[in-house]
Amino acid sequence: MNKITPQPGIMEIDLYQGGASHVDGAVNVIKLSSNENPLGPSPKAIEAVRNSAAQIHRYPSTDHASLRGAIGDTLGLDPERIICGAGSDEIIAFLCQAYAGPGAEVLHTEHGFAMYRISALAAGATPVEVPERDRVTDVDALLAACTERTRLVFIANPNNPTGTMIGAAEVARLAEGLPPQALLVLDGAYADYVEGFDGGAALVEARDNVVMTRTFSKLYGLGGLRVGWGYGPQEIIDVLNRIRGPFNLSGTALLAAEAAIRDTDYAEQCRAHNARWRGWLAEALAELGVPSDTSCANFVLARFASRVEAEACDDYLRTQGLIVRRVAGYNLPNALRITVGDEIACRRVVAAVSAFK
Ligand code: PMP
Repeated sequence: MNKITPQPGIMEIDLYQGGASHVDGAVNVIKLSSNENPLGPSPKAIEAVRNSAAQIHRYPSTDHASLRGAIGDTLGLDPERIICGAGSDEIIAFLCQAYAGPGAEVLHTEHGFAMYRISALAAGATPVEVPERDRVTDVDALLAACTERTRLVFIANPNNPTGTMIGAAEVARLAEGLPPQALLVLDGAYADYVEGFDGGAALVEARDNVVMTRTFSKLYGLGGLRVGWGYGPQEIIDVLNRIRGPFNLSGTALLAAEAAIRDTDYAEQCRAHNARWRGWLAEALAELGVPSDTSCANFVLARFASRVEAEACDDYLRTQGLIVRRVAGYNLPNALRITVGDEIACRRVVAAVSAFK
């Protein structure tokens, strides 16, 4: 018998279950379980993917200079302080590997994104779940949970799966109140859906203990290509670059992301579509007795009277070819998270919930 065992913490991580992407026997299936852009990526990104085919025998860029430049130009950021990863998942993992480890505590909110806990455990650190206030990030609770072992504090703003967000003054108060050895990570995966919101970039620039993460998987419609990025103090970005594999992003992904972020008109159309149909969906569901908190993201968290009702509704939606996300794993057993789809999808969801009721 061998004595090969994983590091402590690894076996506390459940295998990823994911959302279903098909329904046996149903026709016209619509997937609304992963907060993808229902309109797809910019046509310019698709063209970039096609054009990239001629170069796939070459290794990709190692420094991502062209994509970092495009992000910097478009959002007014310093490209030297940007790091690109295979999804923002990879930036979250780099942060845990570099700044947490055995003995370190990694704070995340009660209904926070699952990868914070997974990456903390994978790095050998201890994840610490901090309560929210009515499904909203609670800065006082986070500050109260800090100890001398706290190394990372993750908040998503807007948050997944609640859709709620906190204001810039609250985020700044959190950054100011952290102990000196703790780094605040502002996960802006859904920041692109909030008109005029910088995701926390100004706070990153004003302080030395804040990092922002962003993604191309949501508004930019490139979840399948895995592109995310982080923005932070130069010393921190330099540290993360030491553990980043030189070829962590494919050439195809880099070119598509660059085309996508430069197509600001298309991004604006997608943002407007989302705002319009998110409001319509939330209102129509509320009229059917299924309320949700005001969502700042590209999904609504529909709250049912009980877990039994939420699961029965999910089962019924599936028979109608509609795949939404159960969030019991996020301590929200009475709720279903529904991505804002295209007009047809939104209308089909409301018709199905109405028939279910
Ligand atoms: N953060 C949050 C809050 C998310 O919801 C997601 C995607 N579900 C991610 C990060 C990771 O996205 P990606 O790795 O595709 O960039």
